[in-house]
This record gives sequence, structure tokens and C-alpha cells, in this order.
Amino acid sequence: MSSLVIHSGRVVTPQSVLDPGYVVVEGSTIAQVGEGSPPPCERAIDAAGLWVLPGFIDIHCHGGGGRSFQEADEEAIRVALAAHLRGGTTGIVPAIAACGREERHACLDALRNGVTSLNFNLRDAEPSVGPGPRLKFKDVTPAVLGAYVEGPYFADKERGAQPLGLIRPPDPEDYRPPLREFGELIRVWALAPELPGALEFIRELREHGVVPALGHSDASEEHVEAAIAAGARLVTHLYCAQSTFHRVGAEKRLGLAEMGLLREELVVEVIADSKHLTPNLLRLVLKSKPPSQVCLITDAMPAAGMPPGEYEFLGERVWVTDEVAYRADRERYAGSVLTMAAAVRNVAAQGADMVAVAEMAALTPARVAGVDRRKGSLEAGKDADVVLMDEGLEVRQVVVRGRTA
Ligand SMILES: [Zn+2]
Repeated sequence: MSSLVIHSGRVVTPQSVLDPGYVVVEGSTIAQVGEGSPPPCERAIDAAGLWVLPGFIDIHCHGGGGRSFQEADEEAIRVALAAHLRGGTTGIVPAIAACGREERHACLDALRNGVTSLNFNLRDAEPSVGPGPRLKFKDVTPAVLGAYVEGPYFADKERGAQPLGLIRPPDPEDYRPPLREFGELIRVWALAPELPGALEFIRELREHGVVPALGHSDASEEHVEAAIAAGARLVTHLYCAQSTFHRVGAEKRLGLAEMGLLREELVVEVIADSKHLTPNLLRLVLKSKPPSQVCLITDAMPAAGMPPGEYEFLGERVWVTDEVAYRADRERYAGSVLTMAAAVRNVAAQGADMVAVAEMAALTPARVAGVDRRKGSLEAGKDADVVLMDEGLEVRQVVVRGRTA
């Protein structure tokens, strides 16, 4: 078995920063994490002056490198995965925006093939042995950890970039077939809890092991409380496309966003691009919630990792700068062009320490995706997914299940 040691870096574990620390990798797994002088290994990576972090996990991502996961196309999936690998992502839950039943089925089917073949490839198996995967990924890519389904059970008023026309209340005839067929693949399903039938849908999601997420919603405090009681555990891109603090008559009322900050049952997704959340709003979130309840996401649209210009996304023309994607009216956002590395830089710039940053970028998302026993932190026995970053938090090297990219 081949062994690798990453040594002399600042190794970020869930408890502390080991400086200097080392990570020993045997095959695809972390064998040992320690402080000081490392044991001898066949191969070594000198991480002096670098942060050694767990590979980032992005549970909400639509695409990158010019391609969308929603194309349900093998090459598109590969290109988008490769684009996010460069941002330090080693595990990803591709998102499917509100769409019709047939399109959703095709997307889920393509992602299921991606999961199968990626696991096969990353196990260092002989490619010619066995029935073989349908996808032939030669490169090291982030692992596809499941699928994130968005709606179409959303509030018209808060649909954001989700296509109109498809938006409607939960319908068992629409959601039961995919839950039966793809229940193991679907990790998260987002909905507006104030719609008729929403609470029953939330309960059914929990029965299938799917995390119910609240988003694209005009929910009141009472709607959110009922949703939590039914099993909701996540808020989709906090402060984006959802109700916020408002007045009802003379009374001041919280929206979904503030309920997300308040209630410890809810993990909140954060698009930390300093656009979807301004730096002050990001600081408010970081002050209000512990890292175990904050999940950094990119919610990246396909132009992430591409030059600025005009692109199409979810059937609409969008204008992309180097910071964010705008809808045609340039008044509203159409998604982010973030990488996880940029999100990490932005939360660190607001004062989060590196242990907290690693938790928000890797361990909390791993818990949401249900893979935290294998991924999300630098601990013996877990997959050897590692990101090396320099002083400026730029990615210098990525290791995916023991293989350097
Ligand atoms: Zn999304």
C-alpha cells in the first residue's frame, strides 16, 4: 500500500491547529494526524507555510466551467466537477433547480451514474475489471455525494431565479415517484413551508432520509415553527429569496431568515461572496450561529470559473461579472460564481478562525449530506480529502481520496 505524508504545515483538525502538524495517508484513507515530526513515508509533500485543511464539501452547486449539472450530460458533470476541484471542493451535492418531472428524472439519473462511476474510479480499481462505469473519468474529481432538489414547491413571490410557471404547492403524485426511485441519492429537498401540503411533504422527506430545507419562501414565524416540528433542518441560502424581518400592523415579526438564525435545529446555508450577503450581514450570521450550524455553499451557476460576459442559466440570459451573476434587469442576482476557496477567504476575512472555517466549509456540510463518518475533517479513518492553502488562502494543492490533483 502506498503511503504519503503531508508535513510541516498548519494542520486544521476539528479541535485545534497543529503547527507544525502532519497527515499520514495510506491508500485513500487518513491513517494518522499528529503534531511535530512525522513518521517516514514513501512520498512526502512539504506543506511548510501552508494551511492543511479538510477537502471542502459544497452541498448546493448548479455547475461551473461553463456547464450545468442540470444538462444531465456526463461531459457537463465532469467539466463542472473539475471547475470546482480547483476551488478546493472534494465532495459536491449537485443542485437541480425547479423543473418539470421528466427533466428532474433525467438529471437524477445522470447524477446516479456519476456517483457510481466516481466511487469506482476513486477506489484506484483497475479500469478494465468488472462491468465498468458508464462514465470514464480519468482525472481526479470531487466525489458526487448525492443530489439537492430545489422545489418546484416555492412561493411565487420569492422564486428568485427559479423559473415561473413551474412553481406550485407540493403534490404527492409529483414527489413520491422520485423519492421511491432516487431516495438514496437525494440528500436535500428545498421547499416553502407555508404552502398547502408542505408539512406532510416534510414528514415524507424525513421518512426517506432526505433533509428538508426551507427556501424560496414567504414563511411567517409560525410556518417555520411548524416546519421544524415536522422535521425541517436546513435553510436554503439564508437571506436570499426568503421572508425577513417585517411588521404586521404595529408588531415586529421575524421572517424565515431570522428564524434560521434563532433556532438551533436549523443549519443555515450561506453564500459568502460578499454580494448575496454583504460583509456586515455575513458577520451577523457568524455572530449568531456556531460553526456547527453554518454551512458554506457556492450555489454556483455554470459561469463559475469562466470569464465575465453574458450566459444563459435556467432559460434566461444572465450577466456575469467576476463577482456575481445578475439577471437581465441587473437589479437581482441570478446565482453566484463562487468557489469554496473564495467563500473560505471571505469568512476568514470577517474574523472566523481556521478551525471554525474548516467546520463551516467541510464538517457541517458533511453532516448535512450524511457523509461525516467518512468525510469533513482531518481525522484517522476518514477519506484522505485534503486542501493545501497558502497565507492568502489560495489553493495550492488538492488531494482527493489520497490522489493528488
Ligand atoms: Zn440553488
